[in-house]
Amino acid sequence: MKNKIDAIKNKIKKTALKCQRDLNLIHLVAVSKTMSIEKVKQAIDAGAAILGESYINEAREKTDALKAYNVSWHFIGHLQSNKAKHAVGLFDLIHSVDSMKLVKEIDKQAKKKKIIQNILIQVNISNETTKSGIELISAEDFLKEAALFKNISIKGLMTMPPFFDDQEKARPFFKALRQLKETINLKKIPNITLTELSMGMTNDYEVAIEEGATYIRIGTAIFGQRT
Ligand SMILES: *Cc1c(COP(=O)(O)O)cnc(C)c1O
Repeated sequence: MKNKIDAIKNKIKKTALKCQRDLNLIHLVAVSKTMSIEKVKQAIDAGAAILGESYINEAREKTDALKAYNVSWHFIGHLQSNKAKHAVGLFDLIHSVDSMKLVKEIDKQAKKKKIIQNILIQVNISNETTKSGIELISAEDFLKEAALFKNISIKGLMTMPPFFDDQEKARPFFKALRQLKETINLKKIPNITLTELSMGMTNDYEVAIEEGATYIRIGTAIFGQRT
């Protein structure tokens, strides 16, 4: 696993150099969903510093079993509002906030726990009906409303383009997310400064980095095919 993680880190470095980006602003999220505690432990030993999980019950088990390790846990899957109470505080960042109902629930749970929960807003750039996320055209209004909640901190945006064999085809979607971030920041909405872009997975992360990704979420290239 060490050689796989090293290879990805090398590719990140090369890509950052090529597009003259600061390497320190590009973070690798090792997507460990469905992987055993043993496998996650191996990934941590091999240098994974952020783990990405998609299922709450599974994540609760893993974070508990691995609490001795000084790593960061991120939630990247679809979060049901009735599970928000388990996610808040457990994850340093929730990438996949996709409804106002969920914003409200995260805010409520964060208030109860007396913390500020870091979140990203998931945007459905491709408008696929099978994907979650706020539609591009509603994103600004959504952010304005979400900005009013005091117990969340909106760090940026996340997206998942359609799968393409040729990663170049994903570029317009990544570009659109970056442009949305820039447009929103120009509006100077109180409480909203978007710095993070969570985009890029095993098959398209280099292009995502070229387009400004600050978190790339990689599962298969680290852990192999999920069964
Ligand atoms: C599973 C998953 C990933 C990892 O995908 P790979 O193609 O295995 O790298 C990234 N992001 C999200 C939201 C996922 O659900």
